[in-house]
Amino acid sequence: MTDMPDTSQSQQWFERSSKLIPGGVNSPVRAFNSVGGQARVIERGEGSRLWDVDGNEYVDLVSSYGPMIHGNAHPEIVEAVQQAASGGLSFGAPTEGEALLAEEIVKRTAADKVRMVNSGTEATMSAVRLARGYTGRAKVLKFEGCYHGHVDALLTSAGSGVATFGLPDSPGVTEATVKDTIVVPYNDLAAVREAFAANEGQIACIIAEAAAGNMGTVPPHEGFNAALKEIAHADGALLILDEVMTGFRTSYKGWYGVDGVAADLVTFGKVVSGGLPAAAFGGRAEVMDHLAPHGPVYQAGTLSGNPVAMASGLKSLQLADESLYSRLEEKADQLGAMISAALAAEGVAHHIQRAASMFSIRFAEGEGRDFADMQAAETFRFAPFFHALLDNGIYVAPSAFETWFVSDALGDADFERIDAALKPAARAAAAAVPGQ
Ligand SMILES: *Cc1c(COP(=O)(O)O)cnc(C)c1O
Repeated sequence: MTDMPDTSQSQQWFERSSKLIPGGVNSPVRAFNSVGGQARVIERGEGSRLWDVDGNEYVDLVSSYGPMIHGNAHPEIVEAVQQAASGGLSFGAPTEGEALLAEEIVKRTAADKVRMVNSGTEATMSAVRLARGYTGRAKVLKFEGCYHGHVDALLTSAGSGVATFGLPDSPGVTEATVKDTIVVPYNDLAAVREAFAANEGQIACIIAEAAAGNMGTVPPHEGFNAALKEIAHADGALLILDEVMTGFRTSYKGWYGVDGVAADLVTFGKVVSGGLPAAAFGGRAEVMDHLAPHGPVYQAGTLSGNPVAMASGLKSLQLADESLYSRLEEKADQLGAMISAALAAEGVAHHIQRAASMFSIRFAEGEGRDFADMQAAETFRFAPFFHALLDNGIYVAPSAFETWFVSDALGDADFERIDAALKPAARAAAAAVPGQ
């Protein structure tokens, strides 16, 4: 085990930020509130590694919460971004890049048409508005523990960030805003059928993560997404599959490539951006054509389809050929096996939750199938486990409810470093006591 790393520079920068930026962060889970300790201020990244402002080096298992599937500062993506940037940062007019990225998305998925936006939140917000506008109905059915960004109507029982902080809802999200949101347990088709029976002809859409990754990783049961589509369509409602996390990470075609369920609308973000602020939603042409200026449903964005972000997303997808995904799954297999062996050696009950190359650790025996299962685990073991990894140069997300993201840049030296860090981490997890 290494000595405790020096984090004095991180502390200084974090204090400086905290004076002006609430909580010192621009997205809550980056703060270490649920695990305690000093958040690391990151200076740069290259390949599989990150360096903080104190010069500490980490193996990156966060991958910016998903986007950095090729590792940090991939030379070809950086070059594409530089080239685009030198030709002008934004025009507020159509560009070639957005057509090329749209073609790449449509080629890989069931979507006929797509629209570019700036974040996953915007993608799901717009998809829900479109589903409501298309069907002329108000209600939305979502699942407990599924996160779709901080869209008001969907910020109820929303997993990770929200789950970590134990907020059942967020203040500021009014009762009126969520009154048309129906929430049922994930993987529970009987509950979905009941909700439709009780709200016949009123539900605009079901929205589900294509495979859940924001309550920890929870794969859909076999046939779950297909059944959602069937139930929705039987009542004249649409299915939105949120592939912001799974899209172009779980396969060449995203989760669509895993279970083949073509949703009416699909949302993309994270990997589709290559690491710059870009996201997209798409779907059946007939539904998408309801968007302005073609149709009546309004949706817009000053920086949407930004040429620099399009270049980064396009290059990132072009580099993500079929062979990438078998490599990612092998890396996830290897990591999962290493984590499992280390925890088993210390007698820590655990289950590695998996959905393609996405995974997380549930500190309990057996697979968690919904949010209640994931919350029922011994999550108190996570903070000491996390800190031992961090102190030994392994950067994972500071929450028991986040998915771990492997990148193609991970190699033998990284796995050796992770393996060494897992021993003290598993000991710390074994020694953990509830409430501390
Ligand atoms: C990250 C995420 C979002 C939100 O995307 P942002 O770009 O953070 O707004 C939406 N849905 C899912 C499934 C996500 O994982």
